[in-house]
Amino acid sequence: MNNLGKLFVISAPSGAGKTSLCNELLKTYDNLEYSISVTTRKPRADEIEGKDYFFVDEDTFKKMIQDDEFLEWAEVHGNLYGTPKKFINEKLESGVNILLDIDPQGARQLKSKLHFGVYVFIIAPSLKDLEERLRNRRTESEEKLRLRLENAKKEVRYYKDYDYIIINKNFKKAFNELNAIYIAEHLRSKDVKKIEDIMNLEV
Ligand code: 5GP
Repeated sequence: MNNLGKLFVISAPSGAGKTSLCNELLKTYDNLEYSISVTTRKPRADEIEGKDYFFVDEDTFKKMIQDDEFLEWAEVHGNLYGTPKKFINEKLESGVNILLDIDPQGARQLKSKLHFGVYVFIIAPSLKDLEERLRNRRTESEEKLRLRLENAKKEVRYYKDYDYIIINKNFKKAFNELNAIYIAEHLRSKDVKKIEDIMNLEV
């Protein structure tokens, strides 16, 4: 158990700044890898297949559900998203820490299946901020943007499912908080190995 990687599950309504925070954490730690999800959403202009997502059509996604390839999956904003099981299992078993960026429905599924995992929820300081950020991003049509805002109002209510909440008003402060969580989770007494060896104590 001690050698297993840790699973960091991060959720946030669109526009809360989650992607930038996750990228910064990934840049900071070599032993942390991003779980690339499978989705039926169309790629955005700057997205890369196999880096941001594995983009598939609906039939392929449904076949993957049938073949039990997902650890969890959900419909979000009208598209399907799922976490490939194989990657997570292999990485955790080899001691690599994993960062999952999934919606609250997926996080809830995971929590009911796995007895470990650190659950972090990131929110914007207000709905007004959220709308501004989504508009500035210019990645969605007006219709899709409205759908994401409506969903954000619903998603925020899931906050009690999470171990930690970060209110992202200022990037630096929010990143320090996320980093603090990451560090603290590595100092848990149950995970610190062989203190007797380190201190040269007789067992
Ligand atoms: P976006 O379309 O903006 O990339 O992502 C939309 C939402 O889908 C975000 O809340 C993101 O966390 C969520 N999402 C991305 N991948 C997965 C996944 O594998 N499973 C679930 N349940 N949600 C995901």
